[in-house]
Amino acid sequence: MNKQYIPEWATHIPYPSLMADIVMILHALIVLFVIVALPLTIIGGIQRWRWIRNTWFRLTHLVIILVVVIQALSGRYCPLTYVEQDLRLAAGQTSYDTSFVDQWVSRLIYFDLPAWVFMLTYVLFCLAVMYTWWRWPPRVVGYRRKFESRLYMKHNETYPIGTPGKPWDEADLNAWLTRQRVRRSYEKDVLSAIDGLRDDFTVETYGTLPYASLVGRDYPLYLVKSRKWDVNKPILVVTGGVHGYETSGVHGAIRFLQTKAKAYESSVNVLVFPCISPWGYETINRWNPLAVDPNRSFLPEAPAQEAGLAMAALAKIEGDVLMHIDLHETTDTDNSEFRPALAAREGTVNTNWNIPDGFYLVGDSERPTLDFQKAILKSVRKVTHIAEADERNELIGAPIDYPGLIHYAGKRHGLCMGLTDAPYVSTTEVYPDSAQATPEECVEAQVAAVVGGIDFALNARS
Ligand SMILES: [Zn+2]
Repeated sequence: MNKQYIPEWATHIPYPSLMADIVMILHALIVLFVIVALPLTIIGGIQRWRWIRNTWFRLTHLVIILVVVIQALSGRYCPLTYVEQDLRLAAGQTSYDTSFVDQWVSRLIYFDLPAWVFMLTYVLFCLAVMYTWWRWPPRVVGYRRKFESRLYMKHNETYPIGTPGKPWDEADLNAWLTRQRVRRSYEKDVLSAIDGLRDDFTVETYGTLPYASLVGRDYPLYLVKSRKWDVNKPILVVTGGVHGYETSGVHGAIRFLQTKAKAYESSVNVLVFPCISPWGYETINRWNPLAVDPNRSFLPEAPAQEAGLAMAALAKIEGDVLMHIDLHETTDTDNSEFRPALAAREGTVNTNWNIPDGFYLVGDSERPTLDFQKAILKSVRKVTHIAEADERNELIGAPIDYPGLIHYAGKRHGLCMGLTDAPYVSTTEVYPDSAQATPEECVEAQVAAVVGGIDFALNARS
């Protein structure tokens, strides 16, 4: 650290001694920030503080600790140390002639320990910071939205498959399918969680999607139901993953089973289809491999087997369904990918709607139950925010009937919410790309929707 000469630049700085102290204090504050930010991030992650998800805060933290590790591994001191040292030389100070501030701050920053101890501490600290990025990721959503809307602009002009104005033919469908890749594991994420439910529930396979020749593998389908099935009790049906890419639908259904379902078994038989479209789950897709939307397929002819097999499984269940809730998400990729793809497939022109920022419900216009929907919204509002209508007082192109509620005709459109004849039916739409919601909150919002709904339905029944 001992330099013999005073660098040119330092001789031009006025009050070098004071400036050296300022640099040193700045240095100490940065050290303090790096140290304190880690426990705050962890505590904030657990306590769900919003500000710890701030991208700038987290990025600054990560970059500083990375710089510290890199400089330590390359055997150098922090650049601020050199700057300070040069200023002290310019001030004519030696290591025996430093200011009071220098001395006490020095003690804070430079402990007298072997270099390897510092190195190890830095690396472990850096790994801990990286862990918090994985466990409580910052919200980079603002950027993602901008990026995706740019992506969508490109797609919207011409979707890369098919001829504009002409519906897809066999070759186009194949071209689309070859673009799809497995991005996550049904076995690892979903089936292992379902396996964990076997002690408390009956887990049954209700069919297999025979996709081996199309995508290289078949997909076994599972339902989870109350172990003691009592035909005198009404049934609560929860469906998740009708759109496989809608992550919180799948994990919300599973979370409901893990945390809440048992408590309702004295009043209802629980029947859950956690992941109706596993290929869509793995490839983050709205459609099945045949480019068919399962949530337009709950029709007698069942254009998607995902829908057909769930309908067949339900037909074998004894008893009356009191409530059915179908768990979905509305995502930014609806506009950037899936709606343009739909228009391309049909040979029509795509017009996007605004993706609502927040949770909303799609009730069945064939069975309106306003108080039931209100009860769900009230329960969800404790977990996440409800979407506001756009300037046309609409959500996804449908007029709102109550804040956070629109209606579609379930059976007519082949929607999953038309699956049963239950008096109480709803479809949740969680918005996972919101800057105000974490993946965990999305899962919990789905659970809150199920709970809010069944509490109301049971109350109304008694
Ligand atoms: Zn959906």
